[in-house]
Amino acid sequence: MSFDREQVADIARGVERYTDNIIAFLRDLIAIPSTSTREGDCIRRIRDEMQKVGFDDVRIDAIGNVIGTIGTGRRRILYDSHIDTVGVGDRAAWKWDPLQGKLENGIVYGRGASDNKAAIACMVWGARAMRDLGLLPDDATLYVAGIVQEEDCDGWAVHEMITTQGVRPECVVLGECTNLQINRGHRGRCEIRVTTKGVSCHASAPERGVNAICKMMPIVAGIEELNGRLKDDPFLGRGTIAVTSIECKAGSLNVVPDECTIYVDRRMTVGETTESSIEEIRSLPGAEGAEVSLLTYDSPSYTGYRPKWEKYFPTWVLEEDHPLVQAGVRCGERLFGGRPRTSKWVFSTDGTATMGRLGIPTIGFGPGEERHSHSVDDQVSVEHLTKSAMFYALFPMVYCEETR
Ligand SMILES: [Zn+2]
Repeated sequence: MSFDREQVADIARGVERYTDNIIAFLRDLIAIPSTSTREGDCIRRIRDEMQKVGFDDVRIDAIGNVIGTIGTGRRRILYDSHIDTVGVGDRAAWKWDPLQGKLENGIVYGRGASDNKAAIACMVWGARAMRDLGLLPDDATLYVAGIVQEEDCDGWAVHEMITTQGVRPECVVLGECTNLQINRGHRGRCEIRVTTKGVSCHASAPERGVNAICKMMPIVAGIEELNGRLKDDPFLGRGTIAVTSIECKAGSLNVVPDECTIYVDRRMTVGETTESSIEEIRSLPGAEGAEVSLLTYDSPSYTGYRPKWEKYFPTWVLEEDHPLVQAGVRCGERLFGGRPRTSKWVFSTDGTATMGRLGIPTIGFGPGEERHSHSVDDQVSVEHLTKSAMFYALFPMVYCEETR
């Protein structure tokens, strides 16, 4: 199907009649605090909006994600927008109320505006425009999901939804901010704990014991040195490693400690895995006998669903010429003229689970800019909201055409 200017104008008009709804919905969502594990009120607000918009089915799953469905076809497309946010932090650092959802000169401000509440607002109303205009192919199903706990443990909640709650998409579009470009991957990460053991004794005669901190020192130095030697990738860049915390067990300040633990943040590029990252630390000079392990995530969701999740978030990249990437590019091109750039995120997303762990082709397209996320300038423009809703309205059709 060829696409002419008139059809694009129809989609623009079809979305613009809902611009006020998108803005009002987003401002409401910003006004409902939803830090990780406390998303219940925000999820219920989204459920109500989906019902008002007229999704065929709306439900909250056992984990606490909200899922709206349109269509019953076998080609299943998932739109994923996490709806938890990081906290507000120091309120005095904000120039406006972070929970008010201020609208000024075509920009909506507040915690979660860019990361990632704008996306769910655009997805919900974009789906409405899609339905009004008859843009969903008969053989397709669109799921729009508001996902919990992404900030705390990226990928866990969407992984549970896909593997236990009957939502089985063939592809995923993440709403994380991409500045209206198409993103197709990011570095992975894992959180590692290293523990050394010593023998405690009175600190007045340290030669009688073995100081666990001193045993840790060469390991810390070795980790720092690893940085220059980690793998590089032309698209994702270099892997990195950093010691981010240190603690020790000693009975008192006059006791030689018999245990020391450090925490390590490891960012992995193409060709690096958790296993290789752990092995690197194990083979550092001085690390013989140290315990090296992955951390686990176990904070229950607001519905009481309990994770048991290794803090391992694999690297993922979808090839530039993959049909899903090309469908995203084509969709942006048709709607906005110029060919969208394909890029990557610096931060991590639910894609670590959908593409990284489950191998489901995943891309990102979303309103807002990554530099505003988690900052006191958290914001999104109304122009981005309408353009994203247009993209979400048209994408299922372009994708089904490209991959038929
Ligand atoms: Zn995010």
